Amino acid sequence: MNYQRSSALFSEAQKVIPGGVNSPVRAFKAVGGTPIFVEEAKGAYLYDVDGNKLIDYINSWGPMILGHAHQTVVNAVVEKAQKGTSFGMPTEIETEIAALAVAMVPNIDKIRFVNSGTEACMSAVRLARGFTGKDKIIKFAGCYHGHSDSFLIQAGSGAVTFGTPNSPGVTEGTAKDTLLANYNDLKNVEEVIAANKNEIACIILEPVAGNMGCIPPVNGFLKGLRKLCNDNNILLIFDEVMTGFRLAAGGAQELYGVKADIVTFGKVIGGGLPVGAFAAKAEIMDYLAPIGPVYQAGTLSGNPLAMAAGLAMLKELNENKEIFNSINKKTAYLHKGLNEALTSANVKFTINRIGSMISVHFSEKPVTDFASAAEANNENFKIFFHGLLNEGIYIAPSAFETWFICDALSYEDLDATIAACGNVAKTLN
Ligand code: PLP
Repeated sequence: MNYQRSSALFSEAQKVIPGGVNSPVRAFKAVGGTPIFVEEAKGAYLYDVDGNKLIDYINSWGPMILGHAHQTVVNAVVEKAQKGTSFGMPTEIETEIAALAVAMVPNIDKIRFVNSGTEACMSAVRLARGFTGKDKIIKFAGCYHGHSDSFLIQAGSGAVTFGTPNSPGVTEGTAKDTLLANYNDLKNVEEVIAANKNEIACIILEPVAGNMGCIPPVNGFLKGLRKLCNDNNILLIFDEVMTGFRLAAGGAQELYGVKADIVTFGKVIGGGLPVGAFAAKAEIMDYLAPIGPVYQAGTLSGNPLAMAAGLAMLKELNENKEIFNSINKKTAYLHKGLNEALTSANVKFTINRIGSMISVHFSEKPVTDFASAAEANNENFKIFFHGLLNEGIYIAPSAFETWFICDALSYEDLDATIAACGNVAKTLN
């Protein structure tokens, strides 16, 4: 494939944007090569500035669960834009989407909208600290909760792709309040709690980790965390930025039957516009200003265009819950096909999947936490990534990311992907 125009645009971009990108993992640093500049996208396909058509397995890192430029979502945004793009005053649509989210997600009474997943997680932690009167938080190595200071401690996704899990600029004062534990290791969490008795405000985690590749919780992990939180007066925060409105209408809480105290959202809830949100029972949410003492605000929070996109998306999912079965079935089909293709190529691999989240690690050991994800063969991943790209298939440019399946993908697309994976796998070591 020819990427001449993408290359030229990347050179220009680097002169005026650090690294040429507005979010680091877009830069292809982990896999090498030139990032692809997109012209447009429709359904399951991206069309780049060189005229290449790619089957998209990233879907804007998760939001486009129905595929790109879904007509209902596009219409809702266009219609809203005619009436003004921001007022900084309350609008009816904010209540409408809040009521729908509260109806779809278990165990929440109220929700507040912000502009990104980062904001949602950072605000959720502040709320947990304010509510409990305690300072420390537990996060898991390899989980990513956005780029707020407290979370850049052994974070996954781009932070680990770039080898800077502890970013300069995060003060020691901040870092000391973030305690680390190993994902899927309840005993380790118990030890961390015991060593910091009565000091921990919350445990925050991705209920299915998606930022070290896809790593599902082992049996009993989420229930065990719930019990530890109950026993120690700690709030449990599920970061459902990836899993919310994707694994089920009610997200991971519904899928695993475990209740969190605070839940954060991003991605799907914004229908592709910049939206995040955090939600909980009224008792906790009413601790926020203007009722309670915990301050949190935003000029563009609840922006009408973002709310219109989000509402159109949530309505589609709520009114047609078959979508969840459909994407899960497509992902299971892909899983089976990949498994066969990689097995016959005789490479060492592990595929993890839950619902419509899937990833491939080039390792023969089970991948259940950050350490096992980091052991996988990254050289093979690089070859795999570029080989697929060459065949018109776009997966995330890092093994520390998840593939997101959208409902616009056809079984022909999946067959083409499986065949391409089989071809590329034969070139791996
Ligand atoms: N939490 C999780 C689980 C994420 O995957 C991400 C982003 O990928 C975030 C939080 C941060 O969201 P945003 O990039 O919208 O700030």
